[in-house]
Amino acid sequence: MKEEINKLINLQAIDSEIAGLDDTIAKHQATVTAREQTIAEQQETLANTRNKIELLNQKQLETKAEHDDAGARVKERQNKMMLVQTSREHQALLKEIEENKRLLKETEDRILQFLEQIEQLEKEVTTLENQCIGEQQLLAEDTNTVEKEIKRIEVSKKTVVNQREKQAADLQANYLKRYNKLLDKRAGLAVVPINDGVCQGCYIALPPQQVNDVRKGDKINLCPTCQRILYYQEQEDEAVTE
Ligand SMILES: [Zn+2]
Repeated sequence: MKEEINKLINLQAIDSEIAGLDDTIAKHQATVTAREQTIAEQQETLANTRNKIELLNQKQLETKAEHDDAGARVKERQNKMMLVQTSREHQALLKEIEENKRLLKETEDRILQFLEQIEQLEKEVTTLENQCIGEQQLLAEDTNTVEKEIKRIEVSKKTVVNQREKQAADLQANYLKRYNKLLDKRAGLAVVPINDGVCQGCYIALPPQQVNDVRKGDKINLCPTCQRILYYQEQEDEAVTE
């Protein structure tokens, strides 16, 4: 029986190693994904900023047309001035010229504002573009490194998976079945030691009688709380009895 328990302990060690390797691979992949996400967000900001520029350009052109119209009206009214006869007509034209000149000034100010905003946004676009390009290059290099690292881990994993197959085949079928079921239900941890009378799977103290049973190792002992398979780990200062 002790031999079967040792096989279970070994199997757990192998499975924990596989889980650790899988975890490392997942972390590498998550880092790359997070950086891809950051770049995608920057590109979205870039697209939004370009849209803003486009919109401001459109407004600027519309205002420019307003400005040109006002200029044309001023010229037209000024030409008319030479032809008018009455002071009333003269006054009316002067008023219109004044209004259009005001509009000329006002549209010119607005155009300048648009151009300033566009210039500012274009600077932002340039900065963002450079950032994106830089990060994409860095990420491409790092992705290459990460992919190599993942391949390396997968090679080691293959070896460990082979070990697992051998170890599993060596175990009594009913134990293996119970172990696999537990592994699945208990987040990859099916076989745990007792430390100071405490189950190292759920950290709940076990009845002293059970600690003794586990220590004897005559049968498979399960933690009454988490149902994990228990084994006894000899403390260094403890002499092996029996
Ligand atoms: Zn437990």
